[in-house]
Amino acid sequence: MTSDQLAIHTFTTKPWSIDECIENYARHGFGGISIWRETVEGEDLARVSRRLKDSGLKPVSYVRGGFFTGTTAEARRQAIDNNLRIIRDSETLGLPMIVLVCGATPGQSPRENLSQIQDSIAAILPAAENAGIRLAIEPLHPMYAGDRCAVATMADANDLCEALNHPLLGVAADVYHIWWDSKLEQEITRCAAADRLFAFHVCDFKADLEHPLLDRELPGQGLGTCARVNDLVKAAGFSGMTEVEIFSRRYWTENQHQFLEKIKAACAPLR
Ligand code: ZN
Repeated sequence: MTSDQLAIHTFTTKPWSIDECIENYARHGFGGISIWRETVEGEDLARVSRRLKDSGLKPVSYVRGGFFTGTTAEARRQAIDNNLRIIRDSETLGLPMIVLVCGATPGQSPRENLSQIQDSIAAILPAAENAGIRLAIEPLHPMYAGDRCAVATMADANDLCEALNHPLLGVAADVYHIWWDSKLEQEITRCAAADRLFAFHVCDFKADLEHPLLDRELPGQGLGTCARVNDLVKAAGFSGMTEVEIFSRRYWTENQHQFLEKIKAACAPLR
């Protein structure tokens, strides 16, 4: 895969400001960008949007909305309000899709969490429709199912999409979270056949994680899970930008220009 087919998540180069991300991704020849809310916190979003347009980078995703669950109706209403704000910000930034990390509240069963997630996505879909913004449910590895995301498999995400059945609602498939699933091929096929495979995130999963969130590997390293999942996703017909999402405290201590070049080289063998 060539670098113009890749979009970089700004959290991948966490040491950089949004302006450095935009300038340097374009300079290194990457095709697109997905912007994390943390990277633009306190920024004038209209200014960032203009800068993004001038860069020629393709705007891919705003990361991330969600965290819908809560033990009280008030908590869930606040989460919906927060997501409505995220939709407005995404529109201002000119980003056509929001990745949803859907939430999980300790003490609630997976079924309760999933039911609240479904109700809350239903509540924000009209605003997403007004803004013309797609919502991509991201299943997270089950190690996060207790407190971050009750959507733990592609099947969970596909079920939610089927229940809500809206053309702007789909799935973000992330190698880190889904590689282990023995039903992966059928669920990726199911997702793509329904035109719901909206996004694909790459990195590699490694054994002996030093941190459950911040120790991802370059594609082809770690357990070498990326190429197989990439093949499944591409065989299913996914033709969007492949998004690079590598959180790594180790790589963040390195020169970020060199890190981008390592990403380019690691992704080159992917088809
Ligand atoms: Zn992801």
